Amino acid sequence: MPKDAVKLDMLKFVDTGQSYPEKREPILRAEDFREIADRYAPDKAAEQASRCSQCGVPYCSVHCPLHNHIPDWLRLTAEGRVREAYEMSNLTSTMPEICGRICPQDRLCEGNCVIEFSGHGAVTIGAVEKYITDTAWEKGWVEPLEPGKPRGQSVGIIGAGPAGLTAGEYLRVAGYDVHIYDRHDRAGGLLTYGIPGFKLEKDIIMRRVQRLKDGGINFHENFEVGKDATLDDLRGKHDAILIATGVYKAREIMMPGVGAPGVEEALAFLTASNRKSFGDEVPEFDNGRFNAKDKNVVVIGGGDTAMDCVRTSIRQGAKSVKCLYRRDRDNMPGSQNEVKNAEEEGVEFVWLSAPIAVEGTEHVTAVKATKMRLGAADASGRRSPEVQPDSEFTLEADLVIKALGFDAEELPTLFDCPDLSVTRWGTLRVDHKSMMTNLDGVFAAGDIVRGASLVVWGIRDGRDVTEHMHKFLREKATAEKQAA
Ligand code: FAD
Ligand code: SF4
Ligand code: SF4
Repeated sequence: MPKDAVKLDMLKFVDTGQSYPEKREPILRAEDFREIADRYAPDKAAEQASRCSQCGVPYCSVHCPLHNHIPDWLRLTAEGRVREAYEMSNLTSTMPEICGRICPQDRLCEGNCVIEFSGHGAVTIGAVEKYITDTAWEKGWVEPLEPGKPRGQSVGIIGAGPAGLTAGEYLRVAGYDVHIYDRHDRAGGLLTYGIPGFKLEKDIIMRRVQRLKDGGINFHENFEVGKDATLDDLRGKHDAILIATGVYKAREIMMPGVGAPGVEEALAFLTASNRKSFGDEVPEFDNGRFNAKDKNVVVIGGGDTAMDCVRTSIRQGAKSVKCLYRRDRDNMPGSQNEVKNAEEEGVEFVWLSAPIAVEGTEHVTAVKATKMRLGAADASGRRSPEVQPDSEFTLEADLVIKALGFDAEELPTLFDCPDLSVTRWGTLRVDHKSMMTNLDGVFAAGDIVRGASLVVWGIRDGRDVTEHMHKFLREKATAEKQAA
């Protein structure tokens, strides 16, 4: 197409304002775990995509961890060529409709859109990405997974989160026999049991998993490496291994009373809620332990996990929900969009505040806290919080949720493999050129290498590690042939 023709259809950002899909009223959102916004109607998607100025150097793509071909699929969407847009977006991502929903776009693609910088409001890239692939699923354009010509080699993947599923898909397409082991009864990792349905409905993940199962990937669910097999057992069974186990050791907070009943771990709380969304029996929800109904809830933390806990509590019918965070709004790690959503739904943020004790012996009754102020910036560039003297206060609480982040579990012990090399943070040490650990043929990807990160980085790692594993397996096959 001539360049001028492209320009005629695009560059509409001056006359056409930014418009995200409309969110449901907060009062209605609070009644269920469905996503809070629908997707665009076709003409709205085309209109919003046409705001893109088709940059020669698209900063949106540069800052997308997958380097998605964003201007290309925006142009195709604007022209009504949605199937081609889907094919283009599918080239670089195994789950575009998931990223479109839950990437923190304000920090990645949209946060770096030039139109945002010129004051017109970024192109709504995530919402268009969701529209394209949801449409593809609906219209039957998403092709079944076609396994490649069998190579006679097998791969064992530990962990069925975004990193493991992505590598599994690409390795299957390359012709390997793929086995994915996960300790949960359902695949998906944190997409399934961490992230709540109001951000990502469960059937969106399950249809991706089903496609992989239909494509011949062997899922071994309820299979915990370290309990049902050692790492060495799996190395004996497969030609290469990928460890993609994520990070699950919840960070602790030391303060008097923290062991009181009613003080809970964020992920246990969210997993119980997600299981209810699947229709599972969850005794610890039914007996009230992980149910916020009619309770005064205090969530400690300011990241994505804390945001998910406060918004889940609202939906469970909590009496009040407060989020206690030691820095201020501008210095929190969670997405600003999520804070806005939470505030709309009735969550109260208690900024610049840190807990110092939990009150109540039989059961928690309150959280004692102190006000904080921000001091000088630390090594990471963020200003360190300091205690404000004589500023203590108390918040009534029947349920306290600790959402302070996650570290890596002790994999060398857990896997009965003391030789497996880890960093001082417990994450797996890999050679960054090959993504291989210190054990021959054992690769690693996702949060277990990066530390707690993002879904889109898990997908990127899963994509990258496939290349390295493929190279290793080809060389191994050649060496075995020569030795025979
Ligand atoms: P995971 O998704 O953690 O998957 C690892 C899998 O390995 C799990 O299924 C686990 O059961 C399995 N496993 C672990 N140990 C074993 C073992 N020994 N044997 C067998 N299986 C094992 N990111 C975003 O981009 N957007 C968000 O909105 C967002 N929200 C989040 C909300 C919460 C509550 C949390 C906790 C995280 C959130 N994240 C979000 C981060 C994101 O979910 C992770 O970065 C991403 O899932 C990491 O992918 P992964 O494949 O490395 O690991
Ligand atoms: Fe933006 Fe994430 Fe999609 Fe990349 S994958 S285009 S960062 S929403
Ligand atoms: Fe379009 Fe914005 Fe990307 Fe430029 S930076 S190509 S305007 S989406």
